[in-house]
Amino acid sequence: MQNGENLERLLKESTLCNICLGRQFPLELKGLDNPSKGLELKKKLGVRDRPTKVCNICGGMMSSIEKYVDLVIKALDEYEFESLLIGARIPTTIVEREDHLRAEMKLKGGETLKANFTKELNRKVSYKLNVEIRHRRPDVTAIVDSLLDMVEVTSKSIYVYGRYIKTKRGILQKRRRCSECRGKGCPECNLTGYTSTDSVEQRLTEPLLTLFTAGRVKFTWIGSEDSSSLVLGEGRPFYAEILEPRIRRPKRVKTVMKKVGDGISVKEIRILDGRPKEERQFTITVQSSFTLNKRITKKNVKKLEETFEGASIRMMPPNKKSSTTKKIYRLTVESAKSRYLQVKVECDGGLSLRRFFTGEGGEVIPNVASILEREVTLDEEKPFDILDVDFEA
Ligand SMILES: [Zn+2]
Ligand SMILES: [Zn+2]
Repeated sequence: MQNGENLERLLKESTLCNICLGRQFPLELKGLDNPSKGLELKKKLGVRDRPTKVCNICGGMMSSIEKYVDLVIKALDEYEFESLLIGARIPTTIVEREDHLRAEMKLKGGETLKANFTKELNRKVSYKLNVEIRHRRPDVTAIVDSLLDMVEVTSKSIYVYGRYIKTKRGILQKRRRCSECRGKGCPECNLTGYTSTDSVEQRLTEPLLTLFTAGRVKFTWIGSEDSSSLVLGEGRPFYAEILEPRIRRPKRVKTVMKKVGDGISVKEIRILDGRPKEERQFTITVQSSFTLNKRITKKNVKKLEETFEGASIRMMPPNKKSSTTKKIYRLTVESAKSRYLQVKVECDGGLSLRRFFTGEGGEVIPNVASILEREVTLDEEKPFDILDVDFEA
């Protein structure tokens, strides 16, 4: 018998529960689970099995596993999930007790108390709740603290893709950080870390938090616009990461997302299977009307359209070391009256449109002002509007 000579000594010198005993002898009585194995080994040596909560290794933790099963199930009560993983934090003193005993008795090869405990928990909870145990990226993870009898639940983020339309000027895209606390949260901002200034982000955040009963939402915008710009057509795409969701498959997503309020509407919304791709190339169609300091001629108009037909534009963003190249696919002059011009531009996303029109700072070359040889003044009430964003989600 493997480790056999030690069994007698082990049983004489310590009190172990059947599970902790059985676990020390992986090669014995194969096919039996740890508790039955422990019981058999005790019988073999004529040791009376006292139903005891005292165990020199686990201190009774293994025999009260049902208590932890209930704790986990209760902690998961409000969560919706299809896969689960349970882990455990076990006091070092317990882990050391087992290590010490194994060294002393020269016991080899058995799984650890922690492995035994979590395996049992996972097995029992998954059976009771009829959910799959998944080791890689489960929907929810529950960590049992065996000392404090507490369970910590975390849930995997959900990603949402959508498009919004903005038909009212003066709404920011992003939430503005609270200037008092710089985003940490203070009484001034109701602990949110943000000002209550109206924004697309804020309008979208609340219904998303409600739908998913989530802790937080993080947005990735496909481009940005001025607060005084409109977003028309199919709308501007965005991704939202829903952190710590309790609901994973909300119903009525479209209905709820319709209620984002006056001036903003959600054109498209859907839950993604996983994290969205990092590549975020897109093109954009914008319209702008501006005033020039001198009237223009037909020749100017023609030159403008020709210059930007399939043109490469160099952009030198402030505080950046190298320039980037953006493409203008087409610039169309829609109306030209004396010193007043309305244009439509199709270009790569990420081009600084304000600088492209006015040429300010000399950071975008060539630009509309430089080609027209005029000063360009945007209408600050409506500098430019987004007509379309072409993006493959
Ligand atoms: Zn034990
Ligand atoms: Zn604050």
